[in-house]
Amino acid sequence: MSKKKTDLKIDNFQTRLDIPKNEHEVLDYWDETDAFKKSIEQRPECKPYIFYDGPPFATGMPHYGHILVSTIKDVIPRYWTMKGYRVERVWGWDCHGLPIENIVEKELGLKGGKKGIEELGIDVFNNACRTAIWKFDKEWEQIVRRIGRWVDFKNSYKTMDTTYMESVWWGFKNLYEKDLVYEGRKVILYCPRCATPLSNFEIAMDNSYKDVEDYSITIKFKVKNTKNEYLLAWTTTPWTLIGNVGLAVNPEANYIKVKQGGDIYYLAENRAEAVLGNDFKVLETLKGTDLEKIEYERLYPYLDIEDKKAFYVATADFVSLDDGTGIVHTAAMYGEDDYGLASELDLPLVPMLDEGGKYLDFVEPLKGMFYKKAEKWVVSDLEDRRLMYKTDKLLHSVAHCYRCDTKLYYNAVPAWFINVQKLKKELVAQNEHIEWYPEYLKHGRFGKGLKTAPDWNVSRSRYWGTPMPIWIGEKTGKIRVIGSRDELRDWAVDPKKLPDLEDLHREFLDDIEVWVDDKRTEKGQRIAEVFDCWVESGSMPYASVHYPFENKGKFDKSYPAQFITEYIAQTRAWFYTLHVMSVGIFGSHAFENALTTGTILAEDGTKMSKSKKNYPDPSIIFEKYGVDALRFYLMGSSVMKAENPSFSERDVKEAYLKLINILWNTFSFYKLYCDSGEVVKEVAPKHILDKWLVSKTHSLAKKLTTSLDEYDLVAACRYLQDHVTDLSTWYLRRSRDRLRDDQTARETFGWALDQLSRLIAPLTPFLAETIYQNLHTKTESVHLTDWPEYDDSEIDQQLEEDMALVRKVVELLHSARQKHSLKIRQPLASWSVDKAHGTFFKNKLQLLEVVAEETNIKNYLPMSSDWYKPNVPTNTFIEHGGDIATKTGVLKVYIDTELTPSLKGEGEAREIIRKIQQARKKQAIGLTDSIKVTLPDWPEDYTDYIKEKTLAKSLKRGKEFSVSAG
Ligand SMILES: [Zn+2]
Repeated sequence: MSKKKTDLKIDNFQTRLDIPKNEHEVLDYWDETDAFKKSIEQRPECKPYIFYDGPPFATGMPHYGHILVSTIKDVIPRYWTMKGYRVERVWGWDCHGLPIENIVEKELGLKGGKKGIEELGIDVFNNACRTAIWKFDKEWEQIVRRIGRWVDFKNSYKTMDTTYMESVWWGFKNLYEKDLVYEGRKVILYCPRCATPLSNFEIAMDNSYKDVEDYSITIKFKVKNTKNEYLLAWTTTPWTLIGNVGLAVNPEANYIKVKQGGDIYYLAENRAEAVLGNDFKVLETLKGTDLEKIEYERLYPYLDIEDKKAFYVATADFVSLDDGTGIVHTAAMYGEDDYGLASELDLPLVPMLDEGGKYLDFVEPLKGMFYKKAEKWVVSDLEDRRLMYKTDKLLHSVAHCYRCDTKLYYNAVPAWFINVQKLKKELVAQNEHIEWYPEYLKHGRFGKGLKTAPDWNVSRSRYWGTPMPIWIGEKTGKIRVIGSRDELRDWAVDPKKLPDLEDLHREFLDDIEVWVDDKRTEKGQRIAEVFDCWVESGSMPYASVHYPFENKGKFDKSYPAQFITEYIAQTRAWFYTLHVMSVGIFGSHAFENALTTGTILAEDGTKMSKSKKNYPDPSIIFEKYGVDALRFYLMGSSVMKAENPSFSERDVKEAYLKLINILWNTFSFYKLYCDSGEVVKEVAPKHILDKWLVSKTHSLAKKLTTSLDEYDLVAACRYLQDHVTDLSTWYLRRSRDRLRDDQTARETFGWALDQLSRLIAPLTPFLAETIYQNLHTKTESVHLTDWPEYDDSEIDQQLEEDMALVRKVVELLHSARQKHSLKIRQPLASWSVDKAHGTFFKNKLQLLEVVAEETNIKNYLPMSSDWYKPNVPTNTFIEHGGDIATKTGVLKVYIDTELTPSLKGEGEAREIIRKIQQARKKQAIGLTDSIKVTLPDWPEDYTDYIKEKTLAKSLKRGKEFSVSAG
């Protein structure tokens, strides 16, 4: 059975339109007419506009941040489509990585981190991950459809697709062959729970730092062969003291040897009071270099340092004199500077924790204990041994795992790196080809990030990800990097054992051996690591189209993309990884324009939080004000300038009232009183208001084109709002009566609405569609039409400025009336303006007429030296104004406040007409039906005037006011 096609034609414009309900009908209409597909296919393939969609993690529900970027990802492509470009939009899913692994670990109740997973079996675990990511896809599809975003879900790519993973291999091999990949040990922030290091940009993403309380202790390191001399060192990580191998001082700084109580201490001169207080005696002042090589007694005996030299004072520039004692304790493996210094001095590099952050067996008293738990033991042990000078606590900001919230520590781990240092010059140079919105990001957050970027650790000791295609020879350590499935088939030691390679996840690869040398003499094993999932998202441009295995021609022709958009944290994440992969592989930037948003906060200025429920459910907002209003609010918000505004339901409501509702009411008026079939394509306006509307419409098209070309959606929204306000509060307000019988005016109005329906189409696609469908007798979607072209010759800048001045004059005249309690229905005799502005109104008869109609003041009297003498008594002509500055100076208007009997009578007559018309409306007598009126009194001179205006057949005198049909 075929479903009834949705018809967007509205029968009755008297009844209020239910905007959200109408939006659902528009969605059905788009689905039924295949509008999205048509909008792409009708544009030529040779004219592509490429947009890269940063895929969301498939593990969470969409929130306002997603709605925000999804809206941009709809507005911009709709615009370029209407400009004649082919803008293909395919949805993507980020499937791999820690987020999903953690969810699955919890779901399966796995304990003990990696051990738990390996006992369960990598295949079982990965299968669970594969299933788990489809938990939210339906919700995403629903919300993305509801907000009007056109995107192809059916052909969505997934980072776990074999084709995707194969392209990631290809890209990595490309970098490897350019000598941009190396294996090393680096000190990086490490999550002991996830048992994996995290990259700097993962940490740089928001919410990774938290204030925590830690120990702040000052320890006494006893100088060798002395009775009571100690080096005072400071640390906030007591657990690292087990692994102490050296102390460092600043070579340039001054140190002192002091006596306090019975002991002698060494520390930095400028730290002495802060650490020791006032009660000490300085014995000697020394340079940092003087302390070099002083040996001390080791704190703990557990580390096997073999025959390496350790436990002495070294000098290092990184030693700070801002806190602590100016003497820094070094556990070589667990600090970035420490590791550098230890490598330089060849201090022993002995790990003391396992990958889960627990002490290894040789640390006897603490073996198997989580490092953080050991701190109490260390502190009290040192106190017992009288090696603790001072124990304090301190609140400071420390990095946490963005996924499992475990506190991170620095750890020297073996890892694979992309050599960003080697690429740096080119990364910086290629950034010059990118336009950033807002512009300051180019040399600010993004540009600076490029300059300080460390090498990128791309290996993760995890399971659910693209396995790194590196095989290492078992004898010589020779390396073979595989770049495709075909290569793997070619180099596999036992091709018969090779699976069909329909899936490249670890469970299918871990057992495969590969010849690492071309002569096929040495077998190699794959390293266990998978890629950091940011390698995958950075590979999105080519991996999503399985380049270079497929789509080669198309990709080569359309790279780089025209546009990407995400929120600001991605300048250190996705934008960055895209750039690194692209510059590394193709020697080019990946995108030309990057629009960066801020973060929307909750109404109270804090982060939106699901658990705190501090923001309104988006779907409630959709159905309360409509999606168009929300889109318009978001696109016009300062979040589009990378600021972090609070979400404001009041502002969504305002967008609904001031834009959507007003435009709809304006359009309804047209349909009720002006519509005479199809809208005309061209107009030849005669009346000044019609001319003004034509000029304003061309101006709007020009301003919108310019701002959208420059990705300035805030400006676009402002122009649109101004235009709709002008259209309703000026054009329509001043043209209501005229539109009833002026055919040219009606045509102009219709033409302007038709243009407007297309100009609003990218921003408010629903309202645009409904207006467009109801303007035309037979038509396709507004989103299949072309963007209105503006014609500079149709823009009458002078007229627009003139009208703007008229509106200011009118505004002042209205407030002058108010000030003197003169109701608008009371006609006044005359008005004027100051001399400077007076020249403007010379010979502007049409504009003066507009003012007269709007203000109900009959005459304009030009200002002259004797203007008041012959015409009116001075005392009745009152100056009002001075509030509004114009090009010509401060604008002043004057009104004649004297009410002659004739003016009074006219005013009363108008008041009576209003009363009669109200009564007519109340009694539901048609606007064109004649009536009979009874009144206590009315100004006799205006009898005919009242009858004419109210269609009253008769006016009768009587005690009670009454109106009846007949
Ligand atoms: Zn973690």
